[in-house]
Amino acid sequence: SKSLVWFRRDLRSFDHAALHRALAGSGSVYCAFVFDTDILAGLPPDDRRVHFIHASLRELDADLRRLGGGLIVRHGRAEEEIPRLAAELGVETVFANHDYEPAAIARDNRVARKLGADGRLFATSKDQVVFERSEVLTLGGQPFSVFTPYKNAWLRQLAANPDALAPHEIEPLAARLAPAPAASALPGLADIGFAEPANPVAPAGMSGAADLFEHFLDRIASYGTARDFPADDATSRLSVHLRFGTTSIRHLVRTARQMAAHGAAGAEVWLSELIWREFYAMILYHHPRVVTQSFKSAFDAIAWEQGQAADAAFAAWCEGRTGYPLVDAAMAQLNQTGFMHNRLRMLTASFLTKDLGIDWRRGERYFALKLNDYDLASNNGGWQWAASTGCDAQPWFRIFNPLTQSRKFDPDGNFIRRYLPQLAALDAREIHAPMLAEPMLLLAKGVQMGRDYAWPIVEHERARKQTLARFEAIRAAA
Ligand code: FAD
Repeated sequence: SKSLVWFRRDLRSFDHAALHRALAGSGSVYCAFVFDTDILAGLPPDDRRVHFIHASLRELDADLRRLGGGLIVRHGRAEEEIPRLAAELGVETVFANHDYEPAAIARDNRVARKLGADGRLFATSKDQVVFERSEVLTLGGQPFSVFTPYKNAWLRQLAANPDALAPHEIEPLAARLAPAPAASALPGLADIGFAEPANPVAPAGMSGAADLFEHFLDRIASYGTARDFPADDATSRLSVHLRFGTTSIRHLVRTARQMAAHGAAGAEVWLSELIWREFYAMILYHHPRVVTQSFKSAFDAIAWEQGQAADAAFAAWCEGRTGYPLVDAAMAQLNQTGFMHNRLRMLTASFLTKDLGIDWRRGERYFALKLNDYDLASNNGGWQWAASTGCDAQPWFRIFNPLTQSRKFDPDGNFIRRYLPQLAALDAREIHAPMLAEPMLLLAKGVQMGRDYAWPIVEHERARKQTLARFEAIRAAA
């Protein structure tokens, strides 16, 4: 029998659930990827993620060829291309891995129906996470909405089911891979309407993920204490690889647990972060309404700032000219590289919602456009956490002070200097709050406020009081 594996956010040729299942159950297995015009429409031509996918596919194709197969690549609407390709190849079953985003679930249902109408099957597997959907529930059988008990239950579940980490082997079954037809080769980036970005995401592909992980393992022991300082290279940078599946979550979790067992305290903290990822995927699956609504519905009544002044403040936030150096440096990192450190995502999201009083959904959409690792579940969860509208969120009355955060997490100002070179000559006392420094002293270091660096667009103390009132009004109404 013949089958087809449809690759989506799982761009690797090892420990791959759908590929393993196809190989185990069929005589001949084709592999395909579709550059889906439904997703690509609206992205800028130099989108870093499209370039990353393209580079990762090149490596995936080469590795599948090494194993005797190869990748068939199409460009069009995936929900039409996949049933068409299945018919052309005459396969009985199309295999893919589960997706938990509402739009992807709806698309997959349509594909399953189209295939079914032709007498073909659509078979999907868990791959992206260790535990999905309803595999980790409360004792009462409900999905969790608080992280720590979820994490404890997740760890208990793993202790009871160590097989959840077993790799889905490919190589022993690789003889069943079918070579890709000659005419189906990977198109060039330009052929699908894209161009190389100025600052591509590096390194891409399975080899890129493996290199990053190896480098990170040298530092994982100190992750627990170092991870909050954006100037340091203390986190794994694997998020984009987890997003596109160029690494395997089972491999990462197995390794982290081994490191923890050998006394690397940071490995346990890192494992918690991987569990946060699964927590948010589970939340999105059970509560798809969070895509547009607050997890805590009462907060949908919040009167966010609107109108011209809010639009201007939003633009200043996007472009990194709020007058708060660490916020602006963080937005410069996002705009220039497509990455932002977690501490800074929390800070900039808090600043937008609590200092500028702007609806979290606007910030979430901006991140979605820019982040290389953009993932609906984690991004939505992170934004609702920062805005205090989500599950297990930051309490609304605890509001980050952007200057305190800056002094605490970038104490020497090195991160600020990297992304705001105009402030590079300022010392650690001035750099967090140039608006408070003596103007002559700044000038001597080449900085004139309003010319070289923005005056603050908002006063934190006043904004804090407005935010407390904004949330208090909701509490009073509830
Ligand atoms: P590491 O510190 O090495 O962590 C390892 C992995 O754990 C990450 O790669 C990621 O997959 C996962 N992880 C870590 N922290 C979190 C978290 N808080 N929630 C969920 N998963 C986590 N992460 C995304 O992958 N995509 C997003 O679109 C995204 N948007 C965010 C938006 C906001 C407002 C906030 C506060 C956080 C967001 N995060 C998002 C989570 C986190 O900031 C990134 O995963 C992390 O910064 C990536 O860097 P790293 O790979 O070096 O992480």
